[in-house]
Amino acid sequence: MTDILKDQLAYYQARAEEYDDWFFRRGRYDWGLEHKLQWANELDHIRRFLHEHRGFKRGLELASGTGLWTNELLRICKHVTCCDAAPEMHAINRRQQSPEQVEFRKVDLFDWEPDEQFDLVSATFWLSHVPTEKLDAFLAKVSRSLTPEGMFFFVDSQHAPTSRAKDHELPEEHTGISQRKLDDGRQFQIVKIFHSPADLTEKLARAGLNAKVSLTENYFLYGTATRC
Ligand code: SAM
Repeated sequence: MTDILKDQLAYYQARAEEYDDWFFRRGRYDWGLEHKLQWANELDHIRRFLHEHRGFKRGLELASGTGLWTNELLRICKHVTCCDAAPEMHAINRRQQSPEQVEFRKVDLFDWEPDEQFDLVSATFWLSHVPTEKLDAFLAKVSRSLTPEGMFFFVDSQHAPTSRAKDHELPEEHTGISQRKLDDGRQFQIVKIFHSPADLTEKLARAGLNAKVSLTENYFLYGTATRC
């Protein structure tokens, strides 16, 4: 693993307990009520979109984090296998889940080799953390991890000034690297690539995935893809 990918994982391990503040717009991520409502509406839109698809048996959640999306996947899927390299993230997610419905695997996704297939594969706020030179190979693995009729669901960030914490610099849109801070001031460098719908659609196509990628008004990019 390169130094920046080690730093990226160390950042998420150290951030696990404060991670949900970003999602719920608390503390350093609180940009006021109007912003919070807009953010929540855009997330609701994506949840409704996801829930239009149902009847899945086995789901695979890549970089599952604290479980913010595991709970959504469980509404449309009987069983979810959560993969993340941070035990700290799994610990938080595990508290909310029943062992019959969710299995947790500690997996470094940069070494991941899929050896089984799932009818739903999800990657929320993960593709932006995959370095450009690794993305084609990663998406090819996503494709191989899907059953022939399976569906890939993804959500990620748009380059929006109020997405970040108030004490973070607005990341450059095109460098692919962001500087992040924790509540205690510790700093880390991570990979953060802001994909456009056109660019992601093309990359998914190269991996044999036929995608429909959309944007919400301000904050998110989302969509699904199926095998061609
Ligand atoms: N999917 C979750 C969500 O939407 O809330 C979490 C996304 S968070 C931005 C990125 C996740 O990637 C963290 O849970 C982190 O632990 C995990 N991660 C970082 N490096 C990883 C790696 N090399 N392999 C697997 N997971 C990794």
